[in-house]
Amino acid sequence: MMVAKKNIPTLSPNEALSLICTETFQLSTESVSLWDADGRFLAEDIVSEMDIPPFDNSAMDGFATKSEYLRFASKENPVSLPILHEIKAGDQRCELTANSAVRIMTGAMIPHGADVVIPVEETSETNGKVFFYSPANKGDNIRLAGEDVAKGMKVLQKGERLNAAAIGLLASLNRTTVQVFRKARVAIIATGDELVEPGQYLPEGHIRNSNAYSLYAEVSKYGGVPLYLGIARDCKEETAAIIEKAITCDIIITTGGVSMGQYDFVPEVLRDLGMRIVFETVKMKPGKPCIFGVLEKKSGKKLFFGLPGNPVSSLLSFIQFVRPAILLLMGARKIRKPEMCAILKEKITKKRGRTHFLRGIFTIEHGRLFVKTTGPQGSGILRSMHESNCLIILPPEKEVVESGEEVIIQLIHHEEIA
Ligand code: AMP
Ligand code: MG
Repeated sequence: MMVAKKNIPTLSPNEALSLICTETFQLSTESVSLWDADGRFLAEDIVSEMDIPPFDNSAMDGFATKSEYLRFASKENPVSLPILHEIKAGDQRCELTANSAVRIMTGAMIPHGADVVIPVEETSETNGKVFFYSPANKGDNIRLAGEDVAKGMKVLQKGERLNAAAIGLLASLNRTTVQVFRKARVAIIATGDELVEPGQYLPEGHIRNSNAYSLYAEVSKYGGVPLYLGIARDCKEETAAIIEKAITCDIIITTGGVSMGQYDFVPEVLRDLGMRIVFETVKMKPGKPCIFGVLEKKSGKKLFFGLPGNPVSSLLSFIQFVRPAILLLMGARKIRKPEMCAILKEKITKKRGRTHFLRGIFTIEHGRLFVKTTGPQGSGILRSMHESNCLIILPPEKEVVESGEEVIIQLIHHEEIA
């Protein structure tokens, strides 16, 4: 039997993602106040027990009356009606007396017997009478009970990420708390003798640790709780000790130390820890070395991601693999970023064999999508990640893509759509 060598990637990014998805699980749930619910993932379906709005009400400041009284109204022959009542938002419902009008404010209950509201700016008023200059249709400027949400409607679905409008709906439905999934705790560990934290003295040959900071921001963005554990120097003992400290978390991320170098200790340490390694490489560029492993502990299952060290590779592998895992743990229904076709504005050549993720800038011209690269695509050029607004995904078999050809772009800053 042929055994795949460790450094020969066999999995496509999609296959790698499928393996990750099969290993994910859902975290427990908790109740939070609406004030703290933004960005959390719903752990219950929300079915309305009431109509919203709860009663027919006026959409305008104006006059409520019966549409049939205005049937023959015109500029030349306005209809005049006495104003017998006034009603504002919060007042109890009143009665429309025959052949009269009620002065009504936005949000006030439509009087019994009225079927239309005419905005004040379309009327005039003298001596307690209002003049109407045109006919109106039944229901004009009336917000009907239940037109936003009808009683019995499923308003929000388990797994949705709560946002401002969803939280407003919950408040309208008289909720003060909501059941959500616990936030995933994500440990972040940098590895490398060459790394120095920002703000500290930088000896010759050293570089700043940037990955930990980028990954920290990404974890927060997707709703997880990042826990930064520092830099593990390139020795087995230190790497093992710091990874062990991370085991209280649901997900552990390391960056660096997963290539084929002599100082790349991460895979060895994981085996010693009893980790089940699901894959070690992915057929993609950048991001070929990328470990995904599972550790079964008494306290529960832990997911491990050994991301590559190069800043672009590490961020890109996070987006493709760790982001969906965090979302699934937190009960998310949607994990896919939108992908669409765009017309390439330059010629690109690449080697056969791997899926390429190029940093791209898309523009919309006359409703059509175009895309170009951010320029040099080295996996150490973090600026390319910042300047891009999408990734251009080129399939493994492609070698040349001409300017004017269609390519797939992934909108990495857009929220998940499927
Ligand atoms: P490695 O896989 O450990 O050999 O790292 C690959 C490259 O990424 C090297 O050039 C490292 O210096 C760089 N690198 C590793 N970790 C970080 C980090 N945390 N921040 C910035 N660059 C890093
Ligand atoms: Mg290293």
